[in-house]
Amino acid sequence: MKRLLYLLFILTSSLLLSSCGNKYYYDLEKINITTTTNIMKDLADRIGGEKVNVYSLMGPGIDPHQYIARPNDFIALDKADLIIASGLHLEGKIIGVIESFENDGNKNVLNIGTSLINSDKKDLLIENENFGGLYDPHFWFDINLYIEATTIIKDKLILLDSNNREYYQNNFDSYLTELLELIKYAKDNFSKIKENNRYLITAHDAFEYLGKEFGFTVMSLQGLSTEAEVSPSDVKEIIDIILKYKIVAIFPETSVPIETITSVKEALNRNNYKVTIGGNLYSDSLGGNSDDDTYIKMYKKNIDTIVASLGGGNNNE
Ligand SMILES: [Zn+2]
Repeated sequence: MKRLLYLLFILTSSLLLSSCGNKYYYDLEKINITTTTNIMKDLADRIGGEKVNVYSLMGPGIDPHQYIARPNDFIALDKADLIIASGLHLEGKIIGVIESFENDGNKNVLNIGTSLINSDKKDLLIENENFGGLYDPHFWFDINLYIEATTIIKDKLILLDSNNREYYQNNFDSYLTELLELIKYAKDNFSKIKENNRYLITAHDAFEYLGKEFGFTVMSLQGLSTEAEVSPSDVKEIIDIILKYKIVAIFPETSVPIETITSVKEALNRNNYKVTIGGNLYSDSLGGNSDDDTYIKMYKKNIDTIVASLGGGNNNE
C-alpha cells in the first residue's frame, strides 16, 4: 500500500512539474487559449489576465517562419477554446494545420492578420510591392497596429465571456496606457539618432513597420521570411549600401543565425571600413528572461540597442 501511495505521489509530482514548464495543460476554470507565437501569448495574457490559461506553441527565440508542428502541438490546438495565430503568412509551415482547425466549425480561430486586413487600420499594413494582397507579417513593430490587435483580442474575449466584459475592458485600458507610453519612449529615444545615421540593417526584413513609424531606412540580407537563402549578390548589395551611406552598425536577431551578419562585417573589414555589430534585436520572438519576456520589454530593449549603436558619432566620417 505504501508503495502504491509513493508511486501516486511521484506521478502527481511529475504532472505538476509538467504544468509548470512548457507542457500543455487544460484548465477547467479558465478560457484555454493556444497561440502560435509568444508575442501573441503575451498579448492574450495581458488582456485575459486570470480568466485565461494561455499556451504558446513557440517558445523564446523560436523562428516562426521555419517552425514545424510537433505532436504535442496538435493536442494544444485541439483542446483550445480559442486559437490565436499571428497570420499574414508568418507561420508559413504550420498555417495549414491552423486552417484545418479554422475549417472545423466548432473551433474558435482568431487570425490577427486577417482581422487587421478587415479593420479600419488596414492602411497601416505594408503591402508587398510585387504581390498585391500580400502584407508584411511583422505588424507588431507598428505599435498602432499592435494596439489594434489588442482591441481585436479584447473584443473576442468579451464575445466568448461577456460576464467579464468589464474585467477585459479594464485590462485593455491599462495596457493601452502603457502602449501609448511606449510610443513616447520610442520617439524620445530615437530622436537621439541623427538623420544621416537612421539606417537599420538587419538579418531578415522584420523592421519595415518600425522604420515606417519612426523614420528609419530599413534593409536586410534576407527577405520577409527567413526561409530565403542569402546569396553573394545580396551580401554585395548590402555592403555597397553600407559604404555609400557610411552606415555605422548592423544588427543580428535573436531568432536568426548570426552568420550572415558576421560575413558582412568581415567583408567590410577587408575594405578597411569599420562597422559595429550592434546588440541582438528581437524580431519574431520574445526572450525567456525577466528583462525580455514581454512585448513592451522586448520593444524597449530593441530601442535601447538601436540607440546605443546608432546614436553616437560616425568613425568613418
Ligand atoms: Zn520574420
